[in-house]
Amino acid sequence: MVLYTPGRTSSYPDDPVKHGLRAFFLGGGDEVGNVGCILEDSTGTRLLIDYGLAPTRPPKYPAECPSVDHAIITHSHIDHMGMAPWLVGHLGTRLHGSPLTASLSEVMWRDTYKVSKIEGYPLAWDRRDMEEALQAWTTHQIGDWFEIGEWKCRFHRAGHIPGAVMIEIETPEMRVLWTGDMDTRASPNVLGALPVECDVLFLEGTYGNRVHPPRVEEEERLVSKVLEVVDRGGTALIPAFASGRGQDVLRILKREAPSLEAHYHGMGTRVTQLWMEHPESIREPKQLAKMWRWCRRVSGKSDRRKALDADVIVSTSGMLDGGPAIWYANRLRHHGANAILLTGYQAEGSGGRLLLDEGKLRIFGDVTPIDLEVEQFSLSNHAGQTELVNFARACAPRHVVIFHADEEGREPLSTQLAGEMKVHLPTNRVEIILE
Ligand SMILES: [Zn+2]
Repeated sequence: MVLYTPGRTSSYPDDPVKHGLRAFFLGGGDEVGNVGCILEDSTGTRLLIDYGLAPTRPPKYPAECPSVDHAIITHSHIDHMGMAPWLVGHLGTRLHGSPLTASLSEVMWRDTYKVSKIEGYPLAWDRRDMEEALQAWTTHQIGDWFEIGEWKCRFHRAGHIPGAVMIEIETPEMRVLWTGDMDTRASPNVLGALPVECDVLFLEGTYGNRVHPPRVEEEERLVSKVLEVVDRGGTALIPAFASGRGQDVLRILKREAPSLEAHYHGMGTRVTQLWMEHPESIREPKQLAKMWRWCRRVSGKSDRRKALDADVIVSTSGMLDGGPAIWYANRLRHHGANAILLTGYQAEGSGGRLLLDEGKLRIFGDVTPIDLEVEQFSLSNHAGQTELVNFARACAPRHVVIFHADEEGREPLSTQLAGEMKVHLPTNRVEIILE
């Protein structure tokens, strides 16, 4: 557990930057998630990008942030914004983001706070910090320039999830692009990111070692599997994250098989309402609204029981670590015609991982065998290796800093890009000077 004693534990260098741009990762430099990075140059302009926490149990935090007036939050995933209330409460930092990210922050922070109380782990911030953070947002539309110290910044669409942005920064010396989590491929709810020419590219590398199968084929495979389960008299349970994957799955099903009876249950209900209030961030927003009318939202207990007779149930949590998905899995496991269809990465130690490896799930404290068909689909909203390499080439930078990746993710990217640009593989809490 990191102890937060402001001004005492920050490992950020004391000396001013003499030339070039200093990048100092507090977290997320040599790991996936848990992001926080300070950028600073000789003008004394200092900016923090993202300040998340890794939602492991207990959560993992980035290193303590030095005093900083401005932070840009790229998107509403908790590994990018989970520690922002601490920034506001302790350092008085101003938060910048897209209007949708700012709206979604309330749902994300309240949920993190609630989970910390249920699980009984101490969070580095309290309710008052969160209330202050909700008032600390300055929002910017895609494409609008704004100033941070001596720098000019503007947002570009990042793909990934609605509201996610890449950041273009013009310093007196150079042009920087920070991708955040991104995807150049369109998904049902967002269009893909486009390259921006720059001198320094900070490139996420989550799937740097992976070539994704064509998205259309994975979507077709998912739809046929659901139809097969329904034909044999079963119900397909699709565990999915609240902000992105669940809505993607429902849009695919509505588009390809509108006669299905689909039920949705989870935190995504509030998230989807906020998406619909920000149509500028959504791909074909009318189709999202149609999908939302088409599926049935579960709220009370009797709705839950009705959902058990549906064709498809899409529910949180995406990794079967809790939430209503566990309640449904427990009911559905008694009938062999049913199936569990996983649509995302299942982390080591998660319920979904246990299900894939051993055919078991932790249900209300007991490890229970699940004798159902289990299938996994690749619907990732992160660029894969091909997209990352093509994107980096099109941005044509002098320097590329590959972050948000583990060793397996960043090595292949580094090998492919090394002849064309200077590759930097950051280590958390070690400065990089770019010039
Ligand atoms: Zn993300």
